[in-house]
Amino acid sequence: MSSESWNDGLRRLRGEILGTCRRMYANKLIAATDGNVSVRVAEDELLITRSGISKGDAEEEDILRVDFDGNVLEGRGRPSSEIRMHLACYEERPDIAAVVHAHPPTAVAFTLAGKTLAQCIIPEVVVTLGAVPTLPYTTPTTEAVPLAVRRVIRHADALMLERHGAVTVGRSAMDAYYKLEKLEHAAHVTWLAHQLGRVKTLPADEVRRLLALRSSTLLDGKNPLCNECVLACHEGLEGA
Ligand SMILES: [Zn+2]
Repeated sequence: MSSESWNDGLRRLRGEILGTCRRMYANKLIAATDGNVSVRVAEDELLITRSGISKGDAEEEDILRVDFDGNVLEGRGRPSSEIRMHLACYEERPDIAAVVHAHPPTAVAFTLAGKTLAQCIIPEVVVTLGAVPTLPYTTPTTEAVPLAVRRVIRHADALMLERHGAVTVGRSAMDAYYKLEKLEHAAHVTWLAHQLGRVKTLPADEVRRLLALRSSTLLDGKNPLCNECVLACHEGLEGA
């Protein structure tokens, strides 16, 4: 928020959060009052959607400014019940400024069926997202969720919570949103492919070529590859 005033910056970021909320709802990545979006606005402050509202028609007043202890600094209502999961992401990833949580249906269905989304199948996804890990089930809104997310978000910009939903992080709300959209799209294409026959992973030497593209596009280089790849997880998931 360098050249603009603090208030102008907050207004712009609220607008970005609302744009993200509307896209999530319009594109059926959430239903009813599901999902939440936050943006880091200072070292220990964030804007986050408040609890219990439909993101389809959220307004500026539905976005609260809170500190990292969860205290509301500006706005009325309670912050999203998943705020601790958002805080865990910011604490682990000083390089990110936004967190998006949604329930993308195809990707969630993969977790219900016990099927992985962590395979290197679609080249474009290998370059931009990597293999998307699924975290074992934890009870939503409990402390177990941020604990589990904390370990994996260090290495991945997108992950799935088994039987629950997706968490994506980015440099802005839209950046995190696009990762969510891409994740659901990849899950949908993979599902279609499974109807048609056996789905093969990319050969390791092609994954190596894709990795070279990844570094030249200045991505974080954090996103893991699948266990089947020769180059696999020791790059990304070491110590996770
Ligand atoms: Zn959820």
